[in-house]
Formats: sequence, structure tokens, C-alpha cells
Amino acid sequence: MVGAGVAGLSAACELSASGIRVAVHEATGHAGGRCRSFQDESLGALIDNGSHLILSGNTSIQRFLALIGALDRLSGPVSARFPFLDLASGERWTVDLGNGRIPGRPFSRDGRVPGTRLADYAKSLRLLNASPGSSIDDVLSPCRRLHERFWKPVSIAVLNTEPERAAAVLMKPVLRETIGRGGRACRPLTATHGLSSAFADPAVDFLARSGAELNFRTRLRSIALNESGRVTALCFRDEEIQVGPDDRVILAVPARAAEDLIPNLRVPNEHRGIVNVHFRMSESVSWAPEDPPFLGLLGGTAEWLFWRDGIVSATVSACQGDVDGRRMAGAIWDDVRRSLDLGCNAAMMPPHRVIVERMATIAQTPEQVARRPGSDAGPPGVFLAGDWTDTCLPATIEGAVRSGRLAAELVAGSMDQVRMADPGGASAAT
Ligand SMILES: Cc1cc2nc3c(=O)[nH]c(=O)nc-3n(C[C@H](O)[C@H](O)[C@H](O)COP(=O)(O)OP(=O)(O)OC[C@H]3O[C@@H](n4cnc5c(N)ncnc54)[C@H](O)[C@@H]3O)c2cc1C
Repeated sequence: MVGAGVAGLSAACELSASGIRVAVHEATGHAGGRCRSFQDESLGALIDNGSHLILSGNTSIQRFLALIGALDRLSGPVSARFPFLDLASGERWTVDLGNGRIPGRPFSRDGRVPGTRLADYAKSLRLLNASPGSSIDDVLSPCRRLHERFWKPVSIAVLNTEPERAAAVLMKPVLRETIGRGGRACRPLTATHGLSSAFADPAVDFLARSGAELNFRTRLRSIALNESGRVTALCFRDEEIQVGPDDRVILAVPARAAEDLIPNLRVPNEHRGIVNVHFRMSESVSWAPEDPPFLGLLGGTAEWLFWRDGIVSATVSACQGDVDGRRMAGAIWDDVRRSLDLGCNAAMMPPHRVIVERMATIAQTPEQVARRPGSDAGPPGVFLAGDWTDTCLPATIEGAVRSGRLAAELVAGSMDQVRMADPGGASAAT
């Protein structure tokens, strides 16, 4: 396994659980990749690289967490509630899809987003017939206020791409697997004690208990192929690991790294950034116990606020080009202050940490989606995993976990073929 982000961890755990010997090689000193936490000394707090939202209907995540014994590391409200504030008008509302098998409240007038009609919700079903070339705006603009006040913020959060260019087709499985299965599949979940304690740490523990070999600070430099194009060795700075005919490699690195390692591999080559600003608050944030610890924002710079253990974290997604997060911090603090009705002025910005993930995800436009390779697009013996591979899902944790499982299934399937041909042979996945 090369890469210990969520995709690599998911693949490694699936393979280990099925009794296949696994060795993991990760370039950095920690697991988790783009989904991790760390102790920020200046804030004196554990913070995430960026706030991540998960839905209870993300079945691959649930399966992965069950496997590694971490189902209790996510928490959220009992009902699918999404509170919003329009900073321009001061209006607040909560989209509440209930907790049943069908999405409830939009059918009652007082459960709808203010200014929307039942017909707007019916028009949203157009997403299910979205063509591969259409954008979110193409499909959902006719839903007018519902688009502005629900679909736009939600699609930016899910696709990390501006709605006028974001591929509507990627929202189809999201709709089917969450809203289509009712409020109980749409409950928003966050990592109670940080992303690493929910995903990376329990996965690493699981792998260690299963006897997997874990190597950190080992960056794969190149892959040696023989004349028939099959992988023969993995070349790291200090060592070269031979790959036998019965071994398999899963490359679970970001798209750009995979492109560098595999000549002629066509991958998505446009990205979008995400800015997170974490503020150390001097006063506690109070919210209704039935609400989740976040707020969707319209009409400001920040799009979502999350709070945990004295830290308020603001997110700005779909950033393009050179983003100056430090310059954005003032405007974002103003949004935080107004949203949470804090009794302080704009100049009283508390200690904060800006994190800019310039390549947070691939740009999820129709053109870029068409460049996603399948898990089997690598040279013989090499399989691909990562949120950028073709899972039909958006580039999210759910997509990354599923891509890892898909790659693991391909590896296990190809090893079964080897075992049938040579019942005594030993095989391993790197
Ligand atoms: C700020 C931010 C907010 C997000 N918000 C959400 C959200 O709310 N909900 C959601 O579901 N998703 C969200 N995402 C997306 C989610 O984090 C990613 O989809 C997911 O983490 C991708 O996992 P991955 O394993 O595919 O890739 P990565 O996490 O990038 O893992 C790849 C790993 O490979 C390693 N690597 C790279 N090159 C080499 C090499 N040559 N040799 C060895 N190792 C190498 C890297 O160090 C890394 O650990 C967010 C992402 C960001 C950045």
C-alpha cells in the first residue's frame, strides 16, 4: 500500500481483515492525509486540517469504522437538521429532514426553507436525470430560492466546486444514498474528538494488531516496470523493494503523485482549494441541544462554521488560484462574530490559525470527472485508490473509503486467481 490517507487505510484494513499480508508506505510521518488532526501549540488545541462533515447514510464510512472499531467516534443530532443563517438579511432557518425513511418536513409548509414552494422540491428531482455534461446551476437554477438557500451551499460543500461548473451527475448517488433513503440517512455527523481519532488512529491500531507492516516517512520515488509493463520494484530514497509476480501494489496517493509515478496515466489535473480559519474563543458558543455543532452561512465570506472544545472553525470552499488565507481571516472573523451574536467588535479578533489546502480536492467539473481513471487503470500488478478515482461518488471521505475497498476487492480477486493456479504460493499487498 502506498499512501496512508483514508483510501489507503481503507484498502489496507480490508485486505488485512481478509488475511492478506499488507505493508503500508506513507510519505509523511502520520496517517490520515487530507483528513487529519494535529495539536496546534499557538491555540493550545487539537484542530483538524479542515472541518469535515459526514452523513449517516455514508455506508462505506460506516462499514470501515465498524471494521476498525471506531463507530462511536462520530456524533451528531438524532434528526437530520441543517441550520442556516443569511448574513445579508439576518434570516435564520433550519432544514429538517426528520429521522424517518422518507425526507419529512419539506412536505409541510413550516418545514420548508423560507420562500420556497413544494414545486421547487419536486424540481430538485431533476438531479436524478442529470446528464454527464450538465452543471449544478443548469439543473437546479429553476428551483430558485431552494437552490440559493439549500442546494448551492450543500453542493459547494459536497463538490468543492463552483455550482456553475460543478458536475451535477455527482450529486445523483448522493441523492440516492442519503436524501432518497430519508432523514435517517442524512443525519450530519462530525468527528467528536477530531478526524485522526475517528479515522487514522483506529485504522493504524487495527493494522498494527493485524500484523501489517507500517512505514512512515517513506516516499515512493518511482515504480520499476519490466518489458511487458508489469511492476517489478518500488523505489524509495534509501531502498528498493522487489515486487514479485504474486505481489500486488495499491497506489493510494493523490492524483498528481499518481501521474508522476505512472507514465501516461490520465488523471484529473485541475484542483480546488479550501480555506479553514480556526479561532480560539474566549467565550463559549451556545446552541440548541437538538442542533448540530455547525451553521451554514449565506451572504458572507465563510460558508460553514463548526465548533468544538472552545474552537470555532470557519470554512471557505471552491477556492481557485493563489488564495491568501491570512487576508481573508478578518472578513471571516466578522462573519463569525455576527453569526454567533458575540459581544465583541470586528477589531477584537481572537488567536487563530489559518490553514489553506490548495489542492483540497480535484475540481469536480464534467471535464475533470471524465478524466477519473478506474481502480484497474494502472500497469499490471498496480491498482489505484483515492477520492479522485472513478467511484461515481464525489471526492469525499465516503468516495475515498469506497475507492480503497474497490481496490482491495480487485487485489483479493486477482490473488484468488493466483492461488487457484498455485495453491501453495504466498502473496502480499504493498
Ligand atoms: C479542508 C478539507 C475539507 C474537506 N471536507 C470534507 C468534508 O466535509 N466531507 C468529506 O467527506 N470530505 C471532505 N474533504 C475531502 C476528504 O478529506 C478527502 O476526499 C479524503 O481525505 C481523500 O483521501 P485519499 O486517501 O483519497 O487522499 P489523501 O488523503 O491525499 O491521501 C494520500 C496519501 O498519500 C501520501 N503520499 C503522497 N505521495 C506519496 C508517495 N510518493 N509515497 C508515499 N505516500 C505518498 C500522502 O502523504 C497522503 O497521506 C475535505 C478535504 C479537505 C482538504
